Amino acid sequence: DAYLGAIDAANPTFNAYVAVTHDKARAMAAASDERLGKGEAGALEGIPLGIKDLFATEGVHTQAASHILDGFKPRYESTVTANLWADGAVMLGKLNMDEFAMGSSNETSYYGAVTNPWRANGSNKKLVPGGSSGGSAAAVSAWLCAGATATDTGGSIRQPAAFTGTVGIKPTYGRVSRWGVVAFASSLDQAGPIARDVRDAAILLKSMASVDQKDTTSVDLAIPDYEAAIGKSVKGMKVGIPREYRVDGMPQEIETLWQKGIAWLKEAGAEIVEISLPHTKYALPAYYIVAPAEASSNLARYDGVRYGLRVPGKDIADMYEQTRAAGFGREVKRRIMIGTYVLSAGYYDAYYLQAQKVRTLIKKDFEDVFAAGVDVILTPATPSAAFGVADEEMAADPVKMYLNDIFTVTVNMAGLPGISVPAGLDERGLPLGLQLIGRPFDEETLFQTAHVIE
Ligand code: GLN
Repeated sequence: DAYLGAIDAANPTFNAYVAVTHDKARAMAAASDERLGKGEAGALEGIPLGIKDLFATEGVHTQAASHILDGFKPRYESTVTANLWADGAVMLGKLNMDEFAMGSSNETSYYGAVTNPWRANGSNKKLVPGGSSGGSAAAVSAWLCAGATATDTGGSIRQPAAFTGTVGIKPTYGRVSRWGVVAFASSLDQAGPIARDVRDAAILLKSMASVDQKDTTSVDLAIPDYEAAIGKSVKGMKVGIPREYRVDGMPQEIETLWQKGIAWLKEAGAEIVEISLPHTKYALPAYYIVAPAEASSNLARYDGVRYGLRVPGKDIADMYEQTRAAGFGREVKRRIMIGTYVLSAGYYDAYYLQAQKVRTLIKKDFEDVFAAGVDVILTPATPSAAFGVADEEMAADPVKMYLNDIFTVTVNMAGLPGISVPAGLDERGLPLGLQLIGRPFDEETLFQTAHVIE
């Protein structure tokens, strides 16, 4: 009741929820009370969570914040949310996001922008919460849920976490089932939690993760007790600092933050080593070929027949056209056009195939560094703190917006786990995050190290 009351009072300001499931939340909470009464508590018994609108929830609003999924209520539950409910969690509602998870500011949502609960000192200017999981990050930051699900294709868990002073982890590709998660770029998409601290993130990830036959890319590996990693010393741990992440024009406050992170880990007994990831500069351009290519293919299914919106036309081809023209927003259309272009005959080899080769090189950069004994890599999470809603520079040039993902996309391209952890405030009083990147399936080291920083 406290959370539902907080949502009803604050959501008009933040626009973090696109649907609040009052009745369902109360029913789930009552069932939870009953289990608690019988001494049958699950790991998340009674914990109220917000769910990104990308996860299929049975009989409940699931639209990926798009107009084209108008009225869509799935007849099944995603594996991630089913796992959470099986552990006793309670659903508060569905969280706003960039349309089909395409964006870095939560401004491409059909439901409008989300407002970051943080403001710069002495300023009333509205800031973005980051994206695409902007609703998840804002809701956690403003206490409108105890934790949230999110997804990360090129930074969408870590960047909003950094912008809102929350913790977000993108697990290794294959750790969490993608079944029932609306697809953006299937070879990059991975779900994970956004939480108030590292321990909460560890508990939530343990519950979200599972080996799932319904997702062929789910990896059959035991899921460790992540919480047990928290509080373990990082003494003797080798922390890599990639020199290529010192990008041109990086603001001084980001450099200072990075140095602070290095100093904290050194003080805690870690060994700091400079490393090289030589193909880093190609990650962003290659990502913005691979992700739209896969998106253009995944989004072909929205045809006005199977799901959601249908705009009538004079024949079936016209109906497709009218529906897709009305149903998709500008950014989604831009991605479909880029994706279709790079996959078309004559351009496939020059763009898509080339990007796939670059992807292999990026992955190899990380493999070499880990093979040389580095346990974890420390970088800034984002190149800046949260920026303003309707920022003119970003609106005028989509590439400016894409540059937000410069430190996060490499991790998706390589399929590695990455965590963003709050590491202090900038001069204006806005939160900044540091990112830790780990070996495949070694999320434990990320929780262990992040807890030293938080
Ligand atoms: N900002 C990136 C994009 O728009 C990443 C989005 C994501 O991780 N879902 O593609």
